[in-house]
Amino acid sequence: MINLEEYGWLPSMLPEGANGVPARVTAVRRERYELVCPHGTVHGRLKSAEYYERGETFPTVGDFVLLQYETGGDSLIIKTLPRTSFFSRRDPTPGRGEQAVAANFDTVFVMTSLNQDFNISRLERYLTLAWQSGATPVVVLTKADLADDYDERMQEVHTIAVGVDVCPVSAVTGQGLDKLAPYLGPARTVVLLGSSGVGKSSLVNALAGEKQMDVSAIREDDARGRHTTTHRQMIALPSGAMVVDTPGMRELGMWDVSTGLGEAFADVEEVLARGCRFSDCRHQTEPGCSIRMAIEDGELSAERWQHYLKLGQEAQYADDKVGYLHNKHKWSKETSKWIKQMKKVKKR
Ligand code: GDP
Ligand code: ZN
Repeated sequence: MINLEEYGWLPSMLPEGANGVPARVTAVRRERYELVCPHGTVHGRLKSAEYYERGETFPTVGDFVLLQYETGGDSLIIKTLPRTSFFSRRDPTPGRGEQAVAANFDTVFVMTSLNQDFNISRLERYLTLAWQSGATPVVVLTKADLADDYDERMQEVHTIAVGVDVCPVSAVTGQGLDKLAPYLGPARTVVLLGSSGVGKSSLVNALAGEKQMDVSAIREDDARGRHTTTHRQMIALPSGAMVVDTPGMRELGMWDVSTGLGEAFADVEEVLARGCRFSDCRHQTEPGCSIRMAIEDGELSAERWQHYLKLGQEAQYADDKVGYLHNKHKWSKETSKWIKQMKKVKKR
């Protein structure tokens, strides 16, 4: 017998009058799912009446589902339970909208490396995506052993990671790994978000104390963008936490980034909230512009403002291109409704 609560399950997640055995998806291999349920580790497939006819939301790694449990073979997945957080990307299948790549995590480790690949605007973008997922972001700066201008980079990170815990670590020396412990307690789920090569697999192996992931193989898969068919899984750490790897930013796309913009740029929006003399201020050369004043006073960096504008535009572009402002609370609605909406957009 497995206690599903050790895997993050809460009895309150069970919908009233639901039948079926609760389970958590730990891996997805094409059409076959690996799950943990009170009966142990099982395999499952989607029940087609529910998923292909009634439009139930397709499960992903981390999802809690209900099973029609079978003792002699694959169980049938009959329902995907509402998500507390998720990452999604555009589904490579045309007309299918978006596809969740990880669900129900408590924390997102937003990862960037302190070596020459260090890139502050990329980190800024990842932070935006992380806020958007519904979970709490933590900035994890990898390869701390390779940093040459450590203090300068830390300072840079603190200017963009407003109100976020920042943890420099090294998978090689073990430096800083203990600072991650608060996020890795029993039944907690963490998602790793970062470009390939940043050290996601190395971190998992260091935390697990043994080799769990192939350090180079995953990188190759990422580069070819083969994540739909690639084996994706949730790894259990000795601490009792679970870790999920995600594809990089390119694979996730800038989908609906606007939802997370406010939280990632809380400092910029605070200045904006003060208002300018003219209500239609374009924040360029207008007198009494609060943004301009904040930049002149050194309260806000001009670069940070530029990044905010740039991301805002990209977000708008992504939204307009799809012609549909995706609202994450609408996510759980049936895929069939989504497809109908997409068809209408196309006709316009
Ligand atoms: P992933 O693609 O994000 O999973 O990255 P990997 O874990 O495969 O790491 C990419 C490369 O960076 C590998 O050559 C690792 O050995 C190296 N690497 C990862 N973490 C560290 C670290 O903390 N210090 C050093 N020096 N190298 C690291
Ligand atoms: Zn202004």
